[in-house]
Amino acid sequence: MSHASYLHVTGQEAIKRALSRALREGRIPQTLLLHGPRGVGKQRLALWFAALAQCERPDDEPCGRCPSCRLAARLEHPDIHWFFPTARPRATSPEALREKIEEIRAEELEERRADPTYTRSLGEPVGIYLAAAQNLRSLASARPAASRRTIVIIGDAEALVPQEASPDAANALLKLLEEPPLTSLIMLTSAVPGALLPTIRSRCLAMRVPPLSEDEVANFLRTELKRPAREAEHLARRAHGSIGRALELLREEAQQNREEAEHLLEAALVADPLRTLETAHGYRPFGARGGFLEVLDELQALLSEALAVAVSAATDARGAATAAKLVSSPSVQKLDASAIAQAILAIDRARSMAEGNVNPQLIVATLLGRLRTLLSGSEPTDPRVR
Ligand SMILES: [Zn+2]
Repeated sequence: MSHASYLHVTGQEAIKRALSRALREGRIPQTLLLHGPRGVGKQRLALWFAALAQCERPDDEPCGRCPSCRLAARLEHPDIHWFFPTARPRATSPEALREKIEEIRAEELEERRADPTYTRSLGEPVGIYLAAAQNLRSLASARPAASRRTIVIIGDAEALVPQEASPDAANALLKLLEEPPLTSLIMLTSAVPGALLPTIRSRCLAMRVPPLSEDEVANFLRTELKRPAREAEHLARRAHGSIGRALELLREEAQQNREEAEHLLEAALVADPLRTLETAHGYRPFGARGGFLEVLDELQALLSEALAVAVSAATDARGAATAAKLVSSPSVQKLDASAIAQAILAIDRARSMAEGNVNPQLIVATLLGRLRTLLSGSEPTDPRVR
C-alpha cells in the first residue's frame, strides 16, 4: 500500500482550504480540535496540516519534495509529534513508565509508517495515560529541533485516561493548553468531543470534519487499495462516509474469506463424499460470483503459502500453518510440492468456471474431489502409485 501517503488526504477540501488560508494569513490558532465521525480522516488531516505548516515551499498542499515534506511523509519529522492511544505498559517507576510508553509509541509509528492504511482493531484496551501526556507536554514545550514550530497531534483525545482515579492525564494536557508555548501548535482529534473535559474543549478552536461522500470512499478504495470498482462501490455504500469503517469491513470480509477457504481445504482433505456434498450445497447455486471468487483466491493463497514451505522457499507463519494442516490430515502422506502446484492450477480452472457463471455448487463439488485426489496422493503424480 505504498501508494497511500501521509501527505495525502481523501476529500475534506473545504476544511483543507480553510486551514491553508489561515496558515497563509498567519492566523493559525495554537490549539485546534478536529472533531467528527470515526474514520473520516481527522488524524490524517492533522498530519497533512502539520506537513503543510512545516513545508519549505507551501502552496495549497505540502509540496511533497522539500526535506521537511519528505520527513513528514515518513512520520519522521523531528518537530511533528503524533500521539494516540496505546496499550498501558508496566513499569517500576514513573520515569521508566514514560520511557516505556515512548517506546510503544515508536513501535506503533513504525507500523503506521509501513502501512498508511493501518488501523488498530477496535476493542483493544488503550488509552492516553499520564506518562504520555507528560511526554507530549515536554515535547511541546521544548524548542523546535529543525523548524520554527513544534506540532503535537493528539489523536482520539477523549482517550486521555485518568489514572488511579485522578484526572492527572487530562490535567497535564490542560496545563499545556492553558499556556501553549509560542512555538507550538497543538491539534486534538476526537470522534466524541463531548467526552473531553469542557475545560479542554473550551481552549481549542473546534472544527468539524464531516463524513466523506460515498464517491470519495469508493475512490479511495479503488485508487489507494486497488479494489475492483464494483466491490469499492458496494463497500462505500455500507461505510457511511468513513474510510475507517470501510477498512474494517474489508478486514472482516478478508477474515471470513480466509475461514471459508480453510473450511474448503479441510473438507477436501476429509475423504468423505457426503461432506463434499454438504459443503458444496452450502453455496448458492447461482449468482454468488463476487464473494465466491475471493474465497477461491484465498484458497489458492493458502496453498501457495504451503507450496513455498514445501519447497523450503519460505518459513512464512501462515504457510507453515497450512502445511502443518496438510501433513496432519490422515489422507495426506507427505507434503508434495508438485501435487500442491497442481492443486493450485485446479483452483485456477475452478476460478475461470466461476467467472463463466457455472453453478458454484458444481464447481465446489468438482474442485474438492480434485483437490482430494491430488493432495492425498492417489494421483499418478505420486511415485508410489506410478
Ligand atoms: Zn514541502
